[in-house]
Formats: sequence, C-alpha cells, structure tokens
Amino acid sequence: MSSKKGILSIDQGTTSTRAIVFDVDGKKVSSSQKEFCQYYPNNGWVEHDPEEIWKTTLETCKDAIQIAQEKGISVEGIGITNQRETTLVWDRTTGKAIYNAIVWQDRRTAAYCNSIKDREAMLSEKTGLLLDPYFSASKVKWLLDEVEGARKLAEAGKLAFGTIDTFLIWRLTGGEKHLTDTTNASRTNLFNIHTLQWDDELLSMFDVPPSVLPKVMQCADDFGCTQTQLFGKSLPIAGVAGDQQAALIGQCCFNQGDLKSTYGTGCFALLNTGEKALSSQHKLLTTVAYSINGATTYALEGSIFTAGANIQWLRDGIGVISDAAESQTLAESLDYDHGVVLVPGFAGLGAPHWNPEARASLYGMTRGTSQAHFARAALEAVCYQTYDLQQAMASDGVPSSKVLVDGGMVANDWLCQFLSDILQVEIQRPSNMETTAIGAAYLAGLQLGLYKDLDSIAAQKHIESTFSPAIDKSLREKLLKRWQKAVDATLSFADA
Ligand code: ADP
Repeated sequence: MSSKKGILSIDQGTTSTRAIVFDVDGKKVSSSQKEFCQYYPNNGWVEHDPEEIWKTTLETCKDAIQIAQEKGISVEGIGITNQRETTLVWDRTTGKAIYNAIVWQDRRTAAYCNSIKDREAMLSEKTGLLLDPYFSASKVKWLLDEVEGARKLAEAGKLAFGTIDTFLIWRLTGGEKHLTDTTNASRTNLFNIHTLQWDDELLSMFDVPPSVLPKVMQCADDFGCTQTQLFGKSLPIAGVAGDQQAALIGQCCFNQGDLKSTYGTGCFALLNTGEKALSSQHKLLTTVAYSINGATTYALEGSIFTAGANIQWLRDGIGVISDAAESQTLAESLDYDHGVVLVPGFAGLGAPHWNPEARASLYGMTRGTSQAHFARAALEAVCYQTYDLQQAMASDGVPSSKVLVDGGMVANDWLCQFLSDILQVEIQRPSNMETTAIGAAYLAGLQLGLYKDLDSIAAQKHIESTFSPAIDKSLREKLLKRWQKAVDATLSFADA
C-alpha cells in the first residue's frame, strides 16, 4: 500500500507538457513529458491546438501518477504551472475552444497595440507591464472580433476566457471551476496588480466583456477537484503560478533581494521586491511574484531574448561547435582580455533596451580570432546582459543579494563563474533543476498542509554548487566598459 505522500505538478510549457510527481521531501518520484505541434498559420502568428494541450496533459499526468503509485507514493493533490500569457476562449456549454490558443510569442495584434500606444502610461501604471501583443488582452480582443459570432456569444455570457492554467482547471474539474491565480492574471494587461482586481478601464479599452473573466485566486488556494474518472480518484488542485513565478518559488526566493535567473533558450530574471510593487524606470516589468495567505509579494522581471539560443546558433547555425557543452572547453582556453564581444541581438534586445530593431553584432575580431572567441563571447554576453538587468533592478530600488540560477545553460561551470565575477554576487546552483515544476508542487503542498510555511520549504532546499566573485576588479571594469561600447554601437546601428 502507498505510504508516502506526493504532489503532482503539471508544467504546461510552450513546446511540451510535463507531469512530475514529487514526494514531500521535494524528491522527484516520476515524470512524463510529451511535445505538441506549433502552428504558424501566418507571418508572426503562433498557435497551439487546445485539444493537444489537453491530451498531452492527461496522458503525462496518468503516466506520472501510475509510476509514482508503483513506487509506493500516493498523489494527494495537484499544482499547475504554465506558459504565461497564451490566450484561449472557449464555449461554456461545450467546453470547446472557439479557436486555437494564441501563444505569447504571437505578434498579430502589433498594429492594434501601436494604435493605442498613447494609453500605455495608464496601462503600465495599473498592470506593471508594457502595451505589447505579448500579453493576453489584445489577443482576447482579436478572438472576440475575428471569430464569427464570438462577440455576441461573449456578451450573452456564453464564452469563457483563460490563460492555460484556467483552461486546464476548467477541463480537470469538468467545467465546474473558472479560476486563475494572481500571477497569471498579472500577465494579461487587464489586471490591476495594486488592487488585485480586473480593471474596468482596461476591460473597456480592450473591448473585453467582464462576463468572460475567470475569478482570481491566490497561488496556494482551493481550485476545485479533478473529476474522479480522470485519475481514478478525485484530486484537489491546490497551487497555481505562471512558469517564471513558479521557478522563483521553486528556487525559494522568498526574501526581498533574492534574484532567480533561468538560462534556457532565452533568459528570464525575476527579483523579489517584497510587498512593494516597484515601478521600473528601466523598462523592467512589475509583476505579482506570488499571493499566499492573504499577502502578495511582487517582483521585477527582465528578459533576455536569446541566451542558450546563442549557443544553438553556434552549433546549428554556423557549425562552430558540435555540442553545447563544448562551449565551456573552448571558453576556458582563452584569457580574460581576449578582446572579442558579441551583442546577441538575434531577436532584438530585451530589457533594459526593448529595441526590436537591434541585430546581433560581433566586435573586435582579428586574423587570430577562432571558434573559441565565438564561444567565449556568446557565453560572456549572457553574463553582461544579466549585469545590465541587475543594474536596472538596483537603480529601480532593490539590489540583488544573491542569484539563484537554473536552466540548461547553467550546466556550464565557466558561465556560472563568469556570471559571479561580473555580477559580484554569489551564484547558487540548486541540485534540483526542476525549479518550475517544484514551485507549483510547493504551492499545492502549502495549501494541502503538507508544508507548514515557506520557511519549512526553504529548509529542504539543497544547493549543489556556489560560485563566488574572483576576478580582478580593474579587469572587470575594463570588460564592462568594452561591453557598454559594443551595446551602444549596436543600438546606434539599429537606428541608422
Ligand atoms: P528551454 O527550456 O528554453 O528549452 P533548457 O533549459 O532546456 O531550454 O536549456 C537548453 C539551452 O541550454 C539550449 O539553448 C542549449 O544551447 C543551452 N545549453 C545546454 N547545455 C549547455 C552548456 N553546457 N553550455 C552552454 N549552453 C548550454
């Protein structure tokens, strides 16, 4: 018979759905992952099929629960974390989506967003975000305007809007619950992060009828129970957070000044700013970090569009390396003062510049420049860009006291050491790299009483490696100056 308790975490990502069961000590017991199709029906459009998302969710959950059971772990509840901003509208009666999910990367509403740019200051003040197609509001408007008959149905109260968390909760509870959490709501451009309410002025600006909105819950809360027939017993859904916020929780960044930085294809850095929703003077986003036990914690967020993608470009684009790990050996073969700088604006530059026109540039090459310089400059760039975010966050009011890293790229020790050298703070790399999934599990565990409080969660965390600053100070200054010059040149080329 099952003796130990476990929590099922659903990590519904942009390219795959994963289900992982953790035991109460935070150890991974079982996992299952399934990829699904990306649809690009038009230039700049990105869609997912909601039924594929649902199918992969069900299948991975069933797999993970079964393996856990075979290992004697009884799943007690569910936490959900998800790709943020991706937008769905479905029929309340049939549960069927009226159109595919419009993915966060989708740019179809760019012209519309530009046409109302004069409202951005008001929007930013309320939501902490920018007025950009990235967020959900203009996508909901597009769905209601462009799908035949949708607006009429919405006005008659027959349609429901949701981000992926909301859609999964709806399906898992058999249409009983139409709910989201504060972190997902805070990415819609419709939610006032100060009052924690949907905002009437924004709703009318984006032509979104209040009848389509889910109720906003805390992150550790009662999101209803799954239908019994899905997993053999009814399981409470007890924790929900968007993926980056879940990673912040999974990294136990519970104190003001704790910064987590995830280095995957791109990089997302979130800084816990405590109970203050700071408004950034440097184009960082202000967002809800988590709401637990009636208290809301905020974060500043900065993103770097390409991080691991720089390494992928070296490998798949120009064939300079044969696998990602080789970037470390190559980087280690050079001195600090090698002189080559890559500004990786392959997809424009993110915070603190937000310049979509910027393009990647490589500076300082000589006839002696080799593949090692490319690899080294690609790794260094990610560290310099994190430095720019760290500086922006500090001048917005909260310096980072320590940095917790995760994502595929931080397997690279050289990168972690150089990051510490450049940021001048200790870099901590946890032994459990499943930070996003475990963040959702922690939230559910809190709600279900499996953890007493955040401190007891933090107590079980295990740091695998730490990296401390070791670089000569004047050398660091020189490198940072060189980086700044290269960024300036890249931005000036973009404007030319
Ligand atoms: P995502 O979740 O965005 O798919 P992952 O967290 O799985 O990304 O990380 C994969 C990225 O990490 C890839 O872009 C790859 O190039 C990069 N990567 C993997 N191993 C290394 C390494 N040893 N050094 C540098 N980059 C690496």
